[in-house]
Amino acid sequence: MVVSEPLPYRIRGTVDCEVGGRYLYIRQIPRGNVLFGRGPGRVDLEAERAFVIPQNTFNASNIALGLVPFLKPYHIIRTWSGIEGKMPDSLPVLDFSPRVPGLIHAFGFSGHGFQLGPGTGAVLAELALDGRTGTNIVGFQIGRFAKELTTQQLAEERSA
Ligand SMILES: Cc1cc2nc3c(=O)[nH]c(=O)nc-3n(C[C@H](O)[C@H](O)[C@H](O)COP(=O)(O)OP(=O)(O)OC[C@H]3O[C@@H](n4cnc5c(N)ncnc54)[C@H](O)[C@@H]3O)c2cc1C
Repeated sequence: MVVSEPLPYRIRGTVDCEVGGRYLYIRQIPRGNVLFGRGPGRVDLEAERAFVIPQNTFNASNIALGLVPFLKPYHIIRTWSGIEGKMPDSLPVLDFSPRVPGLIHAFGFSGHGFQLGPGTGAVLAELALDGRTGTNIVGFQIGRFAKELTTQQLAEERSA
């Protein structure tokens, strides 16, 4: 991710496009800072640290300048990267655990955890307080990744 110094507020929507097989998005906050990003960075999972790759920042900046030329005179003030959970189908897991009574899963937001936050919070509150939700979350069950187990394997897994 890259953020510029503030400039006049002109980008009211999000610019989202594929360039060279990777998505780049650009948006501006009303205060004027322009944000754009085109991952991935580098990660050290042992140390739980993510690192910015300068060449990626440079490439992303070049592409952003091509799309939004009026960015050119402004400085980049910050870059960052981070670690987050990605599921194989890019959809989160949001449901009661089928194995641990009372445990509710909400993870694997695959790049969309901020925007899904308000809806996720509402669903989690309903699950915690009422034990059910009016929102259809069937597609988010962890069971979608379960392998077909024989009765014998299932019994072994449960007793482990
Ligand atoms: C660079 C970058 C840009 C992003 N931009 C956007 C965006 O524009 N819009 C958007 O919607 N999403 C964006 N995301 C995705 C968003 O950040 C995630 O989807 C969201 O933060 C996931 O929330 P979470 O609570 O599931 O996990 P996290 O935010 O990762 O929170 C998990 C927390 O659990 C803690 N933890 C881990 N293990 C343990 C343990 N054993 N014990 C106790 N605590 C533990 C961690 O320290 C962490 O604080 C971006 C992600 C990155 C990396």
